Amino acid sequence: MQLGGRILRIFILIILVAAVVYAGVISARWLGQILPPTDVGRFAVSAAAVLFSAALIFGVMTFYVNHGFGLQADIVRSVATREKLVALTFDDGPSKKYTPQILDVLAEYNVPAAFFVVGEHVERYPGIVLRMHREGHEIGNHTYSHINVPTTPAGQLASQLVSTNVEIVKATGTYPLYVRPPRGMYDARLRRVAELLSMQVVLWSLSSGDWRGSMTPARIARKVLERVRPGAIILLHDGGALIRSEGASRQRTVDALGSIIEGLRDRGYRIVPLSTLLEYPAGESD
Ligand SMILES: [Zn+2]
Repeated sequence: MQLGGRILRIFILIILVAAVVYAGVISARWLGQILPPTDVGRFAVSAAAVLFSAALIFGVMTFYVNHGFGLQADIVRSVATREKLVALTFDDGPSKKYTPQILDVLAEYNVPAAFFVVGEHVERYPGIVLRMHREGHEIGNHTYSHINVPTTPAGQLASQLVSTNVEIVKATGTYPLYVRPPRGMYDARLRRVAELLSMQVVLWSLSSGDWRGSMTPARIARKVLERVRPGAIILLHDGGALIRSEGASRQRTVDALGSIIEGLRDRGYRIVPLSTLLEYPAGESD
């Protein structure tokens, strides 16, 4: 990230904290007006102001840990470039039914992608993961059983990532470089474990919305093509389901993929491997 953007975000953070403190003071004054001016009343005012401020600061900090304000250099959502390069990523697979169809479309157009796989699915369908690898696609870790990271105990969190890496290495002989927490929900512990495992946390900048029941293949493609920007990391799904880890139809994603690839090419975009996009020097193209 550029220095200007970083200073702006630190400035926003300071403003937010100041707003929280100010809100605490205002609420204390307001409570002071409606409560009797006794010792009990004054104590209630002080306690309420402290609790209110603490809750707001906790809320802001939780938001920062889970979503960041762009200050977390170890979390990648997109790449700052003016060149029309994008990466396609597929989450929640491999699926016995849909992943092979997606691989067929990618092969037909000769397009690379990154698959963020679920460990237990890799264990079930190692052959599909080997095919991804042989056809030049990259494979990332999406936890062993599609957990909710912030509510998972630390020991389980580490084993979810390690056991998925083991399954990926067993299937392909290659150690994965990337991890994407389910639903993009990460915390400081996940970042530390990822660092220990020499993995980069990769989220996305453009969700196709293909997991939503209301989306048709045409709408999925339109959403991607309307919102695409240089350096985008595009999120699609080749497996999974909304609540369970498997079972939803990804046929609409399969059917949308050709139009997405053709549309991106028509607009001058080049679909590159995720690793190529991530190595791309920021801002280059002038
Ligand atoms: Zn997922």
